[in-house]
Amino acid sequence: MFGLIGHLTSLSHAREVAKELGYDEYAEQDLDFWCVAPPQIVEDISVKSITGKTIVGKYVESCFLPEMLLTKKFKAATRKILNAMAHAQKNGINITALGGFSSIIFENFNLMEMRQVRNIQLEIERFTTGNTHTAYIICRQVEAAAQKYGIPLSQATVTVCGATGDIGSAVCRWLHARTGVLDIILVARNQERLRSLRTSLGRGRIMTIEEALPQSDIVVWVASMAKGMEIRPEMLKQPCILIDGGYPKNLANTVQIPDVHVINGGMVEHALDIDWKIMKWVSRCAPSRQLFACFAESMLLEFEGWYTNFSWGRNQITIEKMEQIGAVSVKHGFKPLVS
Ligand code: NDP
Repeated sequence: MFGLIGHLTSLSHAREVAKELGYDEYAEQDLDFWCVAPPQIVEDISVKSITGKTIVGKYVESCFLPEMLLTKKFKAATRKILNAMAHAQKNGINITALGGFSSIIFENFNLMEMRQVRNIQLEIERFTTGNTHTAYIICRQVEAAAQKYGIPLSQATVTVCGATGDIGSAVCRWLHARTGVLDIILVARNQERLRSLRTSLGRGRIMTIEEALPQSDIVVWVASMAKGMEIRPEMLKQPCILIDGGYPKNLANTVQIPDVHVINGGMVEHALDIDWKIMKWVSRCAPSRQLFACFAESMLLEFEGWYTNFSWGRNQITIEKMEQIGAVSVKHGFKPLVS
């Protein structure tokens, strides 16, 4: 059985979804209530592969909200993730993806040191960040969108915002080794990590986002920001492609310029319908076949019986592992969304 740990994008979003689900006692509450609310399994899911195999899983709502980080309620945020993981393990789930901010909180707050959750010792091999599949899908989206919109990668400047992150660094490695891209611009805040990435890649120009945007044909946005991405559309080159890989996604609403093509980054489409409601709740508008690549990673591990923390730690994603998960992604009927 696979699991998906997810969360909603804001307090108002959480109240809205709680009402829809019939959790009236949650729908009227403020942030303090959500800080103490326990995790809930809110949906049982079954997914069929194009190979014919069917697997079952559960969606675990952690009740974490990004406002907990914005208001510095760090203890509540970390408890949400640990409790959701313990809940998944207690319910016998073999492999669970840590969606949205779950894996970032796990890493940033060093939760590896806090694996004893009441009477449960978390078994880390039961969890995956899903970042290898996400990075693979984003790279495929870059390649497909470049072709679709007539921007050859051999002549393109690609900016990766969040380049030193787990997903961003993997995307940079793939772009360099697999695509023949002309130029890569690296954007993040910590300059030391940027320099170290540039050294390991052997290329890449380090810039601020303001310097990078006017010269970028393609922008891959994989920065971790609790409020989503803020961008001044007038700074963008036209034409250009924006791959919005962050969570929450808000670029399609904020950037509406005819020659700027916004792609829902890190999203896949399954070949067959999935009978579930969670993607509608979590991302508001995704049709039943569309889902986050990190969620799909736990499904792929379940399909293949690879009960291991396939994606774990920071900046460990290799091109070989991206190709490995990419091959089973294709085999089971997932493909990158290019819209
Ligand atoms: P990491 O925490 O590993 O990396 C975040 C990166 O963003 C770092 O390079 C960080 O560098 C940079 N960053 C953070 N804040 C800013 C800022 N204000 N300006 C510029 N750079 C910034 O995160 P992940 O790689 O694990 O995840 C990246 C994003 O992808 C997240 O939004 C996450 O929610 C989303 N995601 C989407 C998935 C999907 O299935 N679609 C799956 C998993 C994650 P520095 O701190 O030095 O600025």
